[in-house]
Amino acid sequence: MSRIYNFSAGPGVLPESVLQKVQAEMLDYRGNGMSVMEMSHRSKAFDDIIKKAEADLRKLMQIPENYKVLFLQGGASTQFAMVPLNLFRNKKADYVNTGSWSKKAMAEARRYGEVNMVASSEDQTFNYIPEITQEMFDSEADYVHITTNNTIYGTRFPSLPPVGDVPLVADMSSNIISQYYDVSKFGLIYAGAQKNIAPAGVTIVIIKDDLADSPLEITPTMLRYSTYIESDSLFNTPPCFAIYVAGLVFEWLLDQGGIKAIEKQNNEKAALLYNYLDQSALFESTVKGADRSIMNIPYVTGNSELDAKFIKEADDAGFKTLKGHRSVGGMRASIYNAMPVQGVKDLVAFMKDFENKNK
Ligand SMILES: *Cc1c(COP(=O)(O)O)cnc(C)c1O
Repeated sequence: MSRIYNFSAGPGVLPESVLQKVQAEMLDYRGNGMSVMEMSHRSKAFDDIIKKAEADLRKLMQIPENYKVLFLQGGASTQFAMVPLNLFRNKKADYVNTGSWSKKAMAEARRYGEVNMVASSEDQTFNYIPEITQEMFDSEADYVHITTNNTIYGTRFPSLPPVGDVPLVADMSSNIISQYYDVSKFGLIYAGAQKNIAPAGVTIVIIKDDLADSPLEITPTMLRYSTYIESDSLFNTPPCFAIYVAGLVFEWLLDQGGIKAIEKQNNEKAALLYNYLDQSALFESTVKGADRSIMNIPYVTGNSELDAKFIKEADDAGFKTLKGHRSVGGMRASIYNAMPVQGVKDLVAFMKDFENKNK
């Protein structure tokens, strides 16, 4: 077996011990004589799996009683439409534009109502989080939408915007369970699981219960939150296997000491890379100051040929998928929860060596 260091932005690295457990339970899941993939979603065994996954996520994120946890399909991209379809009352919402995902979310919401872009960082290739004050928001808006962590550009909201009584909706796809958030500050949180939680196929939604009860009339059954609330996410066949792996990842994270412990480790991992980048004469971080993501770290040399050389040599040395998104160029190291500290240390050592050879 040879595992490499996977710096992919998504699907992302999963904890090795979780993969081993999945492997060990593949042919005979805990005496059931079959894998979770082959099992009825109405079985007792699967009911235990989904209930335990929800309970552990509630424990990890300290999710209050009046919030529902849903396991959906369609990825974060389906939430771009589900959010307005279910939350529009006055049919207008405020969006903060911090990157490609925010733009896609706005484009979907515009199909059903008025989208007010309150702030944007597009003027500088989204390399910062715009300054936001409460006066910018419309108190009549149905919600305010933000992307807490911008996977492509490597920015993160350093604090939550002051939205007053308007529900705050967050696309948390690339930093859910990587740091502590007070869930009661949000109306709705959603995340495609394939960045920090599980294989692709399951989307987590955490919704304050009073937001789910009046979807727009046109909303299809499958796109109503109430459908999944009423059926405990079992209206139709859910993504059983992905939910099972998500549950194992939640168990793993609880064993690591929970969100506070992983947040500390994530800060340390990010600091290792940023500290090196800030003193390097070759590499440079594309994001400055407090808006830096601790999950996705883009960096450049300023010379695209040298970037390509670095990516090639890093790949050969077992540091995989470091190529940056085409809209930023250069490199991007995604260092999700499951990326070991050693992986970041080894990457920094490799970068130092490359710098010495190429200055
Ligand atoms: C990856 C990502 C998405 C898209 O997720 P899908 O599950 O592929 O639809 C949306 N928002 C953010 C912030 C992402 O990182």
